[in-house]
Amino acid sequence: MKLLHHFFSLLALGLVSACAQLPPAPGAQPVAVAQRPTPLILISIDGFRPDYLQRGVTPVLSALARDGVLAAQGMRPSFPSLTFPNHYTLVTGLTPDRHGVINNTMTDAKIPDVLFTLSNRAALADRRWWDGATPIWVSAEQQGLRTATMFWPGSEVDIQGVRPRDWLAYDHNFPADARVDQVLEWLDRPAATRPDFVTLYFEAVDSAGHRYGPDAAETTAAVASVDKSIGRLIDALAARGRLQQSNLLIVSDHGMAPLSAQRAVLLDEMLDLASVQRFVPYGPLLGFTPLPGREAEVRERLAQPHEHVQCWPKAQLPVRFDYGHNARVPPFICLAEIEWALATRESMVRNPPAGGSHGYDPDEAQMAALFIARGPAFESGVQLGSFANVDVYALLAQLLGIRPQPNQGRLETFRPALRPRLPD
Ligand code: AMP
Ligand code: ZN
Ligand code: ZN
Repeated sequence: MKLLHHFFSLLALGLVSACAQLPPAPGAQPVAVAQRPTPLILISIDGFRPDYLQRGVTPVLSALARDGVLAAQGMRPSFPSLTFPNHYTLVTGLTPDRHGVINNTMTDAKIPDVLFTLSNRAALADRRWWDGATPIWVSAEQQGLRTATMFWPGSEVDIQGVRPRDWLAYDHNFPADARVDQVLEWLDRPAATRPDFVTLYFEAVDSAGHRYGPDAAETTAAVASVDKSIGRLIDALAARGRLQQSNLLIVSDHGMAPLSAQRAVLLDEMLDLASVQRFVPYGPLLGFTPLPGREAEVRERLAQPHEHVQCWPKAQLPVRFDYGHNARVPPFICLAEIEWALATRESMVRNPPAGGSHGYDPDEAQMAALFIARGPAFESGVQLGSFANVDVYALLAQLLGIRPQPNQGRLETFRPALRPRLPD
């Protein structure tokens, strides 16, 4: 009641009229300025392995980790350790099997004749792929907060019919510093229209890791350059006197492992390639759908032991993967040993394993993801043990003060890192 009264008095003063420019989520009652949370900035550095912090090129991130909270051994990604599944896990608190974005590339019998891939813009924008879960920005909007996304998988989609109040269509050519400046522009808005939750995404470290491998100088250079961009954000927040009034979370989706043409397992030797359909042709993780009439043969061939690869029928995947119940998961999954890749004779000619990749067992150290937190909500100089990335959602909801959707995250993970809340 007090909250509502406050809102109407601000309305009378004309202080929230700017809200009217963009409509809030249907049924949402804007939260009054005085009741809004400390702005929360969620930054993802795709493919940033936590040990990259030891390379001596991350003054900004290392200082944030030192002054704030660091997952010292990294954060465990969800299975599979791929970009879209894990970005959606971070903002929903559900594993990919449960939120439905089970791979970067997938099909769904209920969405016939469509292959969901990162390059299929129409599929990426179709909410049916995403509607199995509710990302934090949708809940935030529905509960009267304002959100703005400077890229994040799913942020361009009208999930549950709701989009972030401000969002941009993904463009990998959009310069990193321009992304930072866009975030700053949003945060510079007057209190009534300033976003409470902002995302910021960088892909350069993942791109270099794929192309050159995690140990390459080019990857270290990409790490340095993203660190600089985050420094631009930190400096600008500090200059505006806003750094101490912002909570920052800096995460990655997964790590990176080196590949080599010397570490390829030939699929042609494991099964008749004409007996299966596969949507991803080669790599650390492949799914197979036997063609009609070939089920028994595929089952039998994949059940045999294979060096450096393990295959399972989807119902028999290790329980810790929490994967295989979703209808979108293909009937068989093969996963290469860390640093190994599945290939075909043909792919070895055109595209032999080189550089780096991810998609491996999330418990592999090289798949670990980054987690740094810094801001008024957090203690200083705390190191957390390993935890699963579903937990991040519980933290986001807590920091924003919103009711979370049912999720698998545990806020307890962050208890040693959270400052006691001051009484209102
Ligand atoms: P991965 O294949 O798992 O390494 O995916 C990483 C790639 O995902 C990046 O190089 C980006 O090009 C792409 N990506 C990241 N975010 C988005 C987005 N919001 N929309 C489309 N593609 C994206
Ligand atoms: Zn990624
Ligand atoms: Zn990647």
